[in-house]
Amino acid sequence: MQISANAQAVAYLVSAILFILSLKGLTHPASARRGNFLGMAGMLIAVIATLVGNEVQSYGFIIAGIVAGGLIGAVLAMRIQMTAMPQLVAALHSFVGLAAVLVAIGTFLNKRDAGLLNALLMGELSAGAIIGAITFTGSVIAFGKLQGLISGKPVKFAMQHQLNALIALVTVALGVHFAATGSIVSLILMTLLALLLGVTLIIPIGGADMPVIISMLNSYSGWAAAATGFTLHNNLLIIVGALVGFSGAILSYIMCKAMNRSILNVVFGGFGSDSTGAPSAGAAAMEKGIKSASVDDAVYWMEDANRVIVVPGYGMAVAQAQHALKELMELLEARGVEVKFGVHPVAGRMPGHMNVLLAEADIPYDHVLEMDEINSEFASTDVTLVVGANDVVNPAAKDDASSPIYGMPILEAGRSKQVYFLKRSMNPGYSGVDNLLFYQDNTSLIFGDAKDTIEGMVNALKGGGH
Ligand code: NDP
Repeated sequence: MQISANAQAVAYLVSAILFILSLKGLTHPASARRGNFLGMAGMLIAVIATLVGNEVQSYGFIIAGIVAGGLIGAVLAMRIQMTAMPQLVAALHSFVGLAAVLVAIGTFLNKRDAGLLNALLMGELSAGAIIGAITFTGSVIAFGKLQGLISGKPVKFAMQHQLNALIALVTVALGVHFAATGSIVSLILMTLLALLLGVTLIIPIGGADMPVIISMLNSYSGWAAAATGFTLHNNLLIIVGALVGFSGAILSYIMCKAMNRSILNVVFGGFGSDSTGAPSAGAAAMEKGIKSASVDDAVYWMEDANRVIVVPGYGMAVAQAQHALKELMELLEARGVEVKFGVHPVAGRMPGHMNVLLAEADIPYDHVLEMDEINSEFASTDVTLVVGANDVVNPAAKDDASSPIYGMPILEAGRSKQVYFLKRSMNPGYSGVDNLLFYQDNTSLIFGDAKDTIEGMVNALKGGGH
């Protein structure tokens, strides 16, 4: 069965509307499921409308691709640990980039053989290949950093920005030459240089600045898809690419604002990570040593508290402690204690990571507050329970100008009367920076897996005390 181009255009329009409604739904946890469903429905319509369109010449390759890709996707979805999601997202972005490069090269070879090349088309092909190649290698590097295959620390070398600018200039010049002449040598060199640029742009970024990179690459993958849409004359791909491109760019802007970084510095690579080696406030703080506490100590203070704030972080995801936290919340609330959750925009390893886990445990949305909403409440809070979070409460971001996280706004956990860190060791967080809050007088560390520790607290409360 084949449908007319007009019928296909109508189906694409319906899909595009569903995608926009989907994005709207995804802006709030309460409507996120509906948003997801609308997105899936839009994609189903888009795929069917494409398959029954008149451009399809043979179904063999398509079916083989769907079967192979579907199988890999299904196995990945079933096997993937929640904590490995960021790497998976980075890997998926890399595929979008690679697809854009392959479509550009494939289209060039086809049209060249058919004698259908023109400057406009080749300009589109250049854009698709360049953006796609940068997205591909940039995402591979981000994957490597998140998976721990390559150092998560910023990799810096002399004249880095100048080198990036030079590679970018030569790449664009080759793109223009290709569009003007159709030279395959220019196409290949341009693509190779863009692949290199993806590496040199992402490698200097690391530590606490990775979240911005994930959202930037998300945005790039959208632009790569949009460029592919122009090449293939597929309006829906252009719309979807632009939606992903813009929403990724808006998310990057939000993350930059949350981390007090400049978006231009992110785009040009390697920012905010200059360690000056100036005398650090940390040295003085560390001399004080740290205190460790027991589960019973924390329960003693929480039982009599008026307000407890929980600050979840990546360690909560590792320990899968969210369900135990829900139980702890209910037990404390039954004793008249107000319990709130303070979520930092970059807590965990991907945007919204903590919100998803807290929602999974059915923690009511009105208990979950963002950094700006909750920061004024710490000073009047009796106990802050830092559950597997680290960088997002580190005062070095405010007090230590030599710190790589200097300038990032933090959750002001240290201002509450008591702070308990739930973690397994003295290891630092993702940025690798020592946490000055450990050494503050009102702070104690409770060592152990966060889920075990919280279950211990739950048992102590159920047992009627300690
Ligand atoms: P951090 O990475 O700073 O700290 C995580 C803490 O969890 C560590 O102190 C670790 O200590 C502890 N931990 C790990 N496993 C367990 C466990 N099973 N039980 C108890 N504790 C555990 O996390 P934050 O959420 O505070 O900060 C996020 C960091 O990740 C920021 O630097 C951010 O920039 C970066 N990042 C964020 C991304 C995002 O999009 N949100 C993406 C990429 C990076 P120990 O090992 O001693 O247990």
